Amino acid sequence: MNSTTALALIVLAAVGATGLVVGLITWLLTRRALVNRIGDANVLEVGQKLIDVLATAGLVVDSSNTVIRSSASATTMGLVRNKSLAVAELVDVVDTVRRFGEPVFVELEIPSPGGGDDHWVETRAALAGNGNVVVLLEDKTESHRLDDARRDFLANISHELKTPIGAIGLLAEALVDATDDPETVRKFSKNLRKEALRLGALVQDIIQLSRVQSKDVLGAAQPVDVSAIVHEAAERCVILAESKDITITVNPLPDVLVVGDPELLTVAVKNLIENGIKYSDDGKHVGVGVTTSKNNVKISVADLGVGIPKDEQKRIFERFYRVDSSRSRQTGGTGLGLSLVKHIVFSHGGEITLFSKPKVGSTFTITLPRFEPAQDGETA
Ligand code: ADP
Repeated sequence: MNSTTALALIVLAAVGATGLVVGLITWLLTRRALVNRIGDANVLEVGQKLIDVLATAGLVVDSSNTVIRSSASATTMGLVRNKSLAVAELVDVVDTVRRFGEPVFVELEIPSPGGGDDHWVETRAALAGNGNVVVLLEDKTESHRLDDARRDFLANISHELKTPIGAIGLLAEALVDATDDPETVRKFSKNLRKEALRLGALVQDIIQLSRVQSKDVLGAAQPVDVSAIVHEAAERCVILAESKDITITVNPLPDVLVVGDPELLTVAVKNLIENGIKYSDDGKHVGVGVTTSKNNVKISVADLGVGIPKDEQKRIFERFYRVDSSRSRQTGGTGLGLSLVKHIVFSHGGEITLFSKPKVGSTFTITLPRFEPAQDGETA
């Protein structure tokens, strides 16, 4: 090969390589133009699909803060109205993301759209190109409520435990000083026993309440004979009833089943009978009856006791709530009995209602779903 031929080959190669590169760039540019043309729509479509499948609420705002994509839950949470961010705190978050170009992760307290308690919303926001900002929101209101309830419960428990523990300490000290006086020793010992019993009852109710709250009751449920639990519950109250000369009448019981935990259901009925006795004067009467309908079983406990004023009737199911603290303490009440009943009944898919009139009496009714075993030949 001479030098002219070599030069010609080099020029040809150079022309060929340049063509290849130019072609590539042109192709890339065309593709980019194409991507630019259809990209935004596609990205938004994919974004909407992603938002739709997210467990959390989500939205995308453009550079003028118009909401261009949002999940239905973002609207129900009151965060989006007429394609705008309806909450000032959220506008601040989006502005901060734009100003600093960094993702923001913050928990916001947002007024409820229905005017109820504020919502707590865990918020993550980040730039998504073209001045758009993606915001993901998770409603933490329920977990805040549970945290508050747990805090209140712990504060209440410590307070409730301190009272009998303090009393036991004082009585023990007084006993030491009264060793020479048998009458005083007898009196203090009696009080000591009362406080110890109260402490025991409190601890037992706390354990039972936390058991029923943490347990998947229906996970280990079985068919339960209602008449057996009512008889057992009444049986457990006999000593208390005798101490006050109160009769417990159990009306004839139908043969009927519910599904659940027999021990917990017995505790629920027992607590109602016990209250009927505790909040009645001596010599009165407590009645227990069961009625059935096609789908439900109703267990009613009626007393002729002190009754409960209308405005207190909702609150008595709260933990540690007592209408008359001194009477409850006097009867060894823990303030947890009805709260336990409510939790047991709810965890069995039932409900509890109350009819009461001061100085006339009270009737508590537990309604539970009825269980019908499959007949021969039927599949369950
Ligand atoms: P306690 O241990 O104080 O009895 P409960 O949770 O069982 O706690 O009941 C809460 C409050 O409701 C009681 O302190 C009492 O004031 C009221 N209460 C419950 N049952 C009755 C009833 N059958 N008659 C009148 N008051 C009742």
